[in-house]
Amino acid sequence: MTTDGSSGATAAGVPWPDWERVSQHLWWRELGCHDGTPYPRAWAHKAIVLASEFEVLRAMAGHQPLRVLSAYRTPTHNAKVGGARWSQHLYGRALDVRRPDGIDPEDWWQMALTCARQPGSQIRGLGKYRSFVHLDIRPSARLVTWEASDAHHER
Ligand SMILES: [Zn+2]
Repeated sequence: MTTDGSSGATAAGVPWPDWERVSQHLWWRELGCHDGTPYPRAWAHKAIVLASEFEVLRAMAGHQPLRVLSAYRTPTHNAKVGGARWSQHLYGRALDVRRPDGIDPEDWWQMALTCARQPGSQIRGLGKYRSFVHLDIRPSARLVTWEASDAHHER
């Protein structure tokens, strides 16, 4: 496939316009891989589920802006950042959300746990890191949780 210089479209996928949002406070561009690959359009349904969980967490954090550190990752980029081999980020099912200033790590973790334990939550993976929480919507009947350093060694 050829590159369209004007729009930046490549074989890797059609970019999402900067102004397009998944939900009220989450933009499609925030879900793209840091190597420039947009979040795959074919997986939009997964992004919508992630976004609804993101909004619940955002409300719990007092309706303050939350920063997404990592969402979709291509296999190449995932390897580069030391992501787990079967990382949920590869499938567009995970979000790493930075802990807001003024919330301590334990409180941030408890907020994420509370979200995941709400009836109807689709969060099935939750990782506790010093500066962020990882949440994902892996296909699983039970919630899996873990604790790690800020290196992204997740299950
Ligand atoms: Zn993660």
